[in-house]
Amino acid sequence: MTIPISDDSERATCPACKTAAPVVIVKKNHHYHACPKCDCVFTPKLVSEIIVTENNGHSGRHDQNQDATRLKRLVDKLGRAPGLVIDFGCGQGETTRFLQAHGVNTIGIDQNTPVQLKDLADASVDGIMMVEVIEHLFDPRTIFQEFNRILKTGGVVYMESSFADKKNLAEWDYLDPAIGHCTLHTLKSMFMLASENGFMPPGSMPMSAVFQNWFRCKLHRSQPCPKRPSQRLKSSAKASPTPWFH
Ligand SMILES: [Zn+2]
Repeated sequence: MTIPISDDSERATCPACKTAAPVVIVKKNHHYHACPKCDCVFTPKLVSEIIVTENNGHSGRHDQNQDATRLKRLVDKLGRAPGLVIDFGCGQGETTRFLQAHGVNTIGIDQNTPVQLKDLADASVDGIMMVEVIEHLFDPRTIFQEFNRILKTGGVVYMESSFADKKNLAEWDYLDPAIGHCTLHTLKSMFMLASENGFMPPGSMPMSAVFQNWFRCKLHRSQPCPKRPSQRLKSSAKASPTPWFH
């Protein structure tokens, strides 16, 4: 539990669970609140002048080996060769181009791209790749509702971020308005955000990785998320011989 440093008049609404949250720390004149229910740490507004690196990507984000690993994880969880994949928060498009070069039909979406989520048809997408993006979203609930709308049943969101669990907020350099990080999630806030918007969290999540990986499957009453994707891939190999990744 993080100790509030302000009174109730400075509470703001948690973007993950809508609970009123007090200010717990100030970074570069930005008040960050911590939700008493889900522990999400957020600031309701970023002063644009302070942002120095938003949307320029991260040097580690576009390592080809990392992108290959991300694609494998998404497809393993999906349990089938993907049709359409969305690279959400694509920045300069490096990951989009990587996926396209490896035979995956991919659309990159960012703030200024011609295609936005609203342009995509219901149940038209197999996978959504979102690497170091969720911490930039002021309203992740609306985004996840759109993900739920556009994904096919069993579709997967592959997400990477760093979570606020057990962090010393004063020393945590990921909590910084200058890099556009407005909403720092916890495992609990992500679980709530996903489960309240039609997604199922994974059975476990690695905590020791540089970026913590979070897979989600869209829920459907009659067709649960694939539990054992490796077996499904094996059994579907004959039916779907087309190489999708190499
Ligand atoms: Zn919350």
